[in-house]
Amino acid sequence: MLGPVILAASRSDRMRRLVSAAPVTKQVVDRFIPGETVDEILPIIEELTGNGLELTMDVVGEDITTPEQAAAARDAYLKLIDRLKPLELGARAEMSVKLSMFGQALPGGHELALANVRPVVEAAAEIGTTVTLDAEDHTTLDSMFAIHEELRKDVPRTGCVIQAYLFRTEEDARRLAANGSRVRLVKGAYKEPAEVAYQQKHEIDKAYVRILRTLMEGEGYPMIGSHDPRLISIAQELAHRAGRKLDEYEFQMLYGIRSDEHLRLAAEGHRMRVYTAYGTDWYGYFMRRLAEKPANLRFFLRSMVTK
Ligand code: FAD
Repeated sequence: MLGPVILAASRSDRMRRLVSAAPVTKQVVDRFIPGETVDEILPIIEELTGNGLELTMDVVGEDITTPEQAAAARDAYLKLIDRLKPLELGARAEMSVKLSMFGQALPGGHELALANVRPVVEAAAEIGTTVTLDAEDHTTLDSMFAIHEELRKDVPRTGCVIQAYLFRTEEDARRLAANGSRVRLVKGAYKEPAEVAYQQKHEIDKAYVRILRTLMEGEGYPMIGSHDPRLISIAQELAHRAGRKLDEYEFQMLYGIRSDEHLRLAAEGHRMRVYTAYGTDWYGYFMRRLAEKPANLRFFLRSMVTK
């Protein structure tokens, strides 16, 4: 019951100010967002890759309100890519981007987001890696998929995310699987109405398995974005049945969540990519992590009153 309330708060400016100003917030935030600057995040990148893990890097931020902020988001990714270059990690360190941070919701936002994300995709390709377009709320997805298709004309490895909770996703998955795309499948982290999305966990999980089968049997590269142990073993079984080798799909999990499982899957020979977020505008990302697991909220509130 708490999840939807927290997700509603994740869009409230008043809550943003309250939570961001709380003195103890940072300790709890650090579990999920282990740095604010490129300098702080580079040692984390080295530690994770040193442990045999791969990464997808997210500079946190979303729902910006001016074109200048969108340009600043682009520049933050370009700076990160520049700093990654000497590490020569290639595709072991990819980028994940939210188009709302690149201006998608502003007037003329579709074109603006495309213009801002293109140089990031090109710079990533130059250092041998790629970008995945995160999925945000359902109203943004037609634009996201159109931008994805446009970017793939020049950089076919550009990936995108689909959300199992949306009714539309089975059809999106068929299209993306047929055209050989890299696709991350997640359950979905936004508050969506019953007209467009399954609301019950068991319905979402069943949809996840159906969609994953489509991706595994298709021509593309499936990226299983989940911490759910049941779905992870089903994914292994589906990959096996589809005759996929270990390098023909990958697992992805979020930094700070089930870290032992990251290492276990990597040790079994799986490609395991850790979604690692950093930056100062962490509020929306952080609140979605609280919404996914109410125990996180209890821990957060306790740390506020015991300090
Ligand atoms: P759940 O059933 O929610 O969780 C399974 C188990 O994992 C839980 O029992 C718990 O032990 C653990 N767990 C899960 N979440 C947490 C948490 N926050 N804190 C502590 N433990 C937790 N969503 C989008 O809408 N768009 C995206 O672009 C997107 N990108 C993602 C990228 C990656 C790599 C991952 C892993 C998730 C992404 N998500 C995205 C979030 C996703 O939609 C889910 O909200 C999130 O992954 C939780 O679902 P789950 O599959 O882990 O299953």
